[in-house]
Amino acid sequence: MALKHIEKKVNRILKKDRPDSPIQPVRLERDSTFQFQCHPGVSCFTRCCRNMNIILTPYDIIRMKNRLGMSADLFLKLYARQEILGITGIPVARLNMLEEMDGKCPFVTPEGCQIYTDRPVCCRYYPIGIASLRQQEKHQGEEEEFFFLVKEDHCKGFDEPVEWTVDSWRADQEADLYDSMNRGWMELLLRKKSFGEESEMPPRAQQLFYMVTTNMERFRKFVFESRFLDTYEVDDQILREIREEDTALMQFGFEYLKVAIFGGESDRLKLRQEILDREVKKIIKRRKKNKRRLQRLSRGRR
Ligand code: SF4
Ligand code: SF4
Repeated sequence: MALKHIEKKVNRILKKDRPDSPIQPVRLERDSTFQFQCHPGVSCFTRCCRNMNIILTPYDIIRMKNRLGMSADLFLKLYARQEILGITGIPVARLNMLEEMDGKCPFVTPEGCQIYTDRPVCCRYYPIGIASLRQQEKHQGEEEEFFFLVKEDHCKGFDEPVEWTVDSWRADQEADLYDSMNRGWMELLLRKKSFGEESEMPPRAQQLFYMVTTNMERFRKFVFESRFLDTYEVDDQILREIREEDTALMQFGFEYLKVAIFGGESDRLKLRQEILDREVKKIIKRRKKNKRRLQRLSRGRR
């Protein structure tokens, strides 16, 4: 990609040409510094925890429902709603704000966030935004990450005399852990996006995607109590891990969706040979049937 194009793309991401944007038109690197602190002493404390557009990642849901000591079913019922994410056509869970209470987040209290150490990723990263550029020509499709500051006028945290680098802020917010947990999910979103608007995800695939990415109890039942293991071959060690740990099951779920919905391959689960043979037979049978139909049609035309 030519330098000029990269610059244009960075400007578009940073919304340089939109004067009303809270995004500071400055590209930050990992060692760039900024001043910020959010604490109960700031005059705006908790005011931003309302009318937020929060898409919950699969790892957010695990942390939050465990923190609240409830099942995923109950958590989703009480706090989230399913919706389709933009042009990806992919179902995601959005955190419900309390409309009857001025759009407040259900977890905000006068003392701050009730689930602070397990709050969703989008609340953790503020005021740092992250973007990535794909440097197609120069680095053979490598992703290049960069950061920017989201500076909103009402936020008094920027007047506080505490200095961070992007890296020290990310470490404080457990950003690396959250990024690594969410990577498989992000890859699935991008995979779908790359198909473009044309290809709608069929309703049954949407249902499966939502269940696997939001509800570990249901997904665990699906793996161990349906015909899943008659269809896929999974290593015993992996089975032991996913029976016990939600995060291991979540990562396994990303692999499963890659195979089952997007036709990808995975080292962690493979279609059993007898299932593959059966599928191949079905395809051959379908092709033969189509061929006979075409032959009949062409004979009819003569
Ligand atoms: S989850 Fe916590 S930090 Fe995030 S909006 Fe709600 S109260 Fe605020
Ligand atoms: S507006 Fe800024 S300083 Fe105020 S509570 Fe929100 S993040 Fe903290």
